[in-house]
Amino acid sequence: MRTRFAPSPNGALHLGHAYAALRAHDLARQMSGAFLLRIEDIDGVRSRPDLVEAIFADLRWLGLHWDGEVLFQSTRLAAYEAALADLRARGLLYPCFCTRSQIATAGAQPGPEGLVYPGTCRALGEDERARRMADEPHAWRLDMAAAKAQAGALSWHDQEAGEQAARPDHFGDVVLARKDAPASYHLAVTLDDAHQQISHVVRGADLFAATHVHRLLQALFDLPVPIYHHHRLLAGADGRKLAKSEGAAALASLREAGADGPALLENLRKAMLPSGISWGEPSYSRP
Ligand code: GLU
Repeated sequence: MRTRFAPSPNGALHLGHAYAALRAHDLARQMSGAFLLRIEDIDGVRSRPDLVEAIFADLRWLGLHWDGEVLFQSTRLAAYEAALADLRARGLLYPCFCTRSQIATAGAQPGPEGLVYPGTCRALGEDERARRMADEPHAWRLDMAAAKAQAGALSWHDQEAGEQAARPDHFGDVVLARKDAPASYHLAVTLDDAHQQISHVVRGADLFAATHVHRLLQALFDLPVPIYHHHRLLAGADGRKLAKSEGAAALASLREAGADGPALLENLRKAMLPSGISWGEPSYSRP
């Protein structure tokens, strides 16, 4: 039995992260399992080494101890590339040259994570692809219809929301390798949860919908399927989920102001929130 906390070092951790880490930690400890830490640092533009140090300091201050070595996604690039090569060889990936504004003006409809790609580059011929790949930045997208046809009907289980039929098609042709990063969140997180043998994925309800895509990727790579637990989110005074930009709830500010980390954690454990913080709607965003 293994859980993990997988923060991205692109902003200061806040109370919502403390809650996510606590839920993953406590579930592991209750079941005599392991609680692992993974640093999701492949976003070269936004990841910052000082924020990695701050994550370690925040967790230590809270009194949350992880087991084993920390896994840095930046050490896993060869695994991501091998997985992409596998999908490419199976005809399930295509290069996409579109910019955000081209996608917006191509009549794309809103989806679970921004606009659903209208498939423009899926239709390009081999010659045009080869020519443009030589000198244009490109992402790699999954051909969703072809991938779904290979994988067949899939389901996954959430400990709060119950059995879910996987509906990745609502996401359209998702990006698996970005123009500016070697793997997208969906690809890296799916491969790494399997690599770390995570049996229970505990994370916020804002990532509930993404699990439909992760389930499809598990099927394509023949990976084990963890049990999922999407917990409720913490909201700020405006009722919206906490964002990394909100300094007030930043753990580093509380830590530096001399607040008692383990006491704060104990309150969160008892569902007691500091003033100005509330529970977000326990909504599972359906795709
Ligand atoms: N790295 C992601 C984040 O910071 C979380 C990934 C996950 O738990 O699946 O939001």
